[in-house]
Amino acid sequence: PIEMSVAPIVSGDEVHGAVTTFRDISQRTEVERLKDEFISVVSHELRTPLTSIKGSLSLLTNGVMGPVPAAQQPLLDMARRNAERLGELVDDILDLDRLEAGRMPLRPVETDADELAAQVVGSLQPAAAVAGVELSVKPCGGGATVVRVDPHRMNQVLTNLVGNAIKFSSPGCPVTVSVSRAGDEVCLAVRDRGPGIPEDQHAAVFERFRQVHEPGGARTGTGLGLPIARGIVDRSGGRIELTSEPGKGSTFTVVLPAARETTGGDGG
Ligand code: ADP
Repeated sequence: PIEMSVAPIVSGDEVHGAVTTFRDISQRTEVERLKDEFISVVSHELRTPLTSIKGSLSLLTNGVMGPVPAAQQPLLDMARRNAERLGELVDDILDLDRLEAGRMPLRPVETDADELAAQVVGSLQPAAAVAGVELSVKPCGGGATVVRVDPHRMNQVLTNLVGNAIKFSSPGCPVTVSVSRAGDEVCLAVRDRGPGIPEDQHAAVFERFRQVHEPGGARTGTGLGLPIARGIVDRSGGRIELTSEPGKGSTFTVVLPAARETTGGDGG
C-alpha cells in the first residue's frame, strides 16, 4: 500500500503550490504485524514454563517438600513475588492482544455497579491499609445502577483504576469510589488526591507502555493497565473519562449504559 500526503505551500494568504509525498508503507505495516505476532507468540510460550515455576516455588515455600531453612525463606519469597509479577505482565500482554484483535470473550450479565464497587473496594482494602490510604465507597443505592457487563472484566477495570489511585496517593490521602446514575448512564468515579496528570498527557496514559510518573519506590507497573481498562470498557459499550488537576488529584470515571429505567418496573 501507498500512503499519500499533500502539504500546501503558502506565503501570506496565497497558495503557491503543493508538495505531494508518496510513501510505501507496505514494509512498515508488515513489520508492525510481525511485531504483534511475535509478542503474542512469546507471551503464550511464556505461560507454560511460568506455571511450572510458580507451582514449584509454592511447593517449596509451603513446606510441602520439608522445612525451609530460615536463611532461604526471603530468597524463595522474592522468587515467588517476581514469578507472580511476570505472570501478571504476561496476562496483561495477552489481554491487550486479545482486545486489539477483537478476540476477548465478554459475557455480559446484569450486574449492580454498587455491588461491583463494594467488591473491588473490599478486596483492595488491605493494599490501601499498607499504603496508609483511606479507601472508601459511596454507593448510589436504590437499585438504579444495574448495568449489562462481564462482571469479572469490569472488576478487573475497577481494580486497575483503584489500584492506580492507591499507588499514586500519599499516606493519609483519601481514595473514593462513587457510584451514581446520570440520565440513562451509570457512572463509577474513582477519585484520588495524588499528583494528577497534566492535560496534554490525558490521551497518552491510555496508550501502551506510557508512564507519566517515574516509577519508583513502591510504584511498580507495566503501563498496560489503562489501555486494557479502556479496551474492556469500550467493548462493553461505555467509555472512560479522565479529569485531573496536577497537584490536586485525578478522577477516572467509567460511564456505562444503564440496563434499566430509573422509575417503573417493566424490567426492560
Ligand atoms: P501503570 O500503572 O502500570 O504504570 P497504567 O496504564 O495503569 O500503567 O497507567 C499509565 C500511567 O498513567 C501511569 O504510569 C501514571 O503515570 C499515570 N496514572 C495512572 N493512574 C494515575 C493516577 N490515579 N494518578 C496519577 N497518575 C496516574
